[in-house]
Amino acid sequence: MATKDNNEPKAAPALGKAAGKKRLPRKEFSPDVRLETLAVREGLPASQWGENSEALFLTSSFVHPDAATAAARFANEEESFVYSRFTNPTTMMFERRLAALEGTEAAIATSSGMSAILLMIMGLLKAGDHVVCSRSVFGATITLFDREFGKFGVQTTFVSQTDLNEWRDAIRPNTKLLFAETPSNPLTEVCDIRALAELAHANGALLAVDNCFCSPALQQPVKLGADLIIHSGTKYLDGQGRVLAGAICGSEDLVNGTFMPVMRGAGMSLSPFNAWVVLKGLETLSIRMAAQSANALQLATWLEAHPQVERVYYPGLKSHPQYALAMQQQNGSGGAVVSFVARGARGLATPEASRQAAFHVIDQTRLCSITANLGDTKTTITHPGTTSHGRLKEEQRQAAGVTQGLIRVSVGLEHIEDLKADLARGLDSLASIAQ
Ligand SMILES: *Cc1c(COP(=O)(O)O)cnc(C)c1O
Repeated sequence: MATKDNNEPKAAPALGKAAGKKRLPRKEFSPDVRLETLAVREGLPASQWGENSEALFLTSSFVHPDAATAAARFANEEESFVYSRFTNPTTMMFERRLAALEGTEAAIATSSGMSAILLMIMGLLKAGDHVVCSRSVFGATITLFDREFGKFGVQTTFVSQTDLNEWRDAIRPNTKLLFAETPSNPLTEVCDIRALAELAHANGALLAVDNCFCSPALQQPVKLGADLIIHSGTKYLDGQGRVLAGAICGSEDLVNGTFMPVMRGAGMSLSPFNAWVVLKGLETLSIRMAAQSANALQLATWLEAHPQVERVYYPGLKSHPQYALAMQQQNGSGGAVVSFVARGARGLATPEASRQAAFHVIDQTRLCSITANLGDTKTTITHPGTTSHGRLKEEQRQAAGVTQGLIRVSVGLEHIEDLKADLARGLDSLASIAQ
């Protein structure tokens, strides 16, 4: 049971190396308190005014009682609030709450998901280091590792999402990091987090997992051995498509020892306003994930039976190649992203006919938002072949499995029958569209 919220916080428990340091107060919870409870309760104790809803501290700097205290705080001898580039109470409430949900000691918030990955690379790697990364991660992640950090002498080898042998063969003596994202976008391929963690640790490397698609409500990679969790808070954590946000979750040592000094110097900070939006978003995370995933499973099952659908990609379907692994790793849920291939009109399978069929299905929707964002309570629909994967050559797209008939749906909270009707409009009329 959680201790009651009040304005008299207990002293913080001493933590590891920093045992002598004066720490900010923590809320205390019994060790068996559940995720749903932490999602609405973890944060900082209320201020002297006793507010029930967490306050938004829109201030760039903080005032110190005297010069000696200011000196101690700047020297980092006392945990406190100094300047919102690296410390702000609203941002810290978000960090503590997210860390509690992921089951890590700490978290550090960033201005976007990409800046979380930027901060991670800057903190962990130097010229001459090597990374092994899934080929199926978010497109901007590939660019950041390959093009941007390639310039600074960090080399990355991209490997299959699902073939562990490729990961093993890619490891070199200077490999410092394995990076995975599961399930992948848009084909929902699932990689084995526990096996990757074992492989990383056997080779003196760390495993980082981008947990954007499942969120901690469905998957807690740290429990499977991962060292670092990356989040785009822009997606399910906010859940309502309002702000950009990101975070890295991990040990106290990595977050405060490795990443915080980089944050102080580089400043990819999350604004307190955005932190507040996502903090409040976390309160409904598990009910949203449950409801959106239930909708997604129904939609995927219905799509699989539709005559104009060639194939459905969804980890909650028995036809998914990693169904068993996904169910084990993702709390028995497939998540809320479903991709499917529309059959070309009159059964034609050329890329042109497939693209035309996909565009027809997308354009016939009236509810679904045509946008590449995901994780919203509003269902979004997108054609990866001409948007997120539009810059690839056709052969590269084929190799990635992103064919011209592929449609990705991030399932929201609308009524499932309304969603089916919205997609049925295009699918049912596919047979009759002109070529
Ligand atoms: C969107 C996304 C990102 C990047 O997050 P931003 O907040 O848009 O910077 C990273 N990884 C995955 C899996 C994403 O979907």
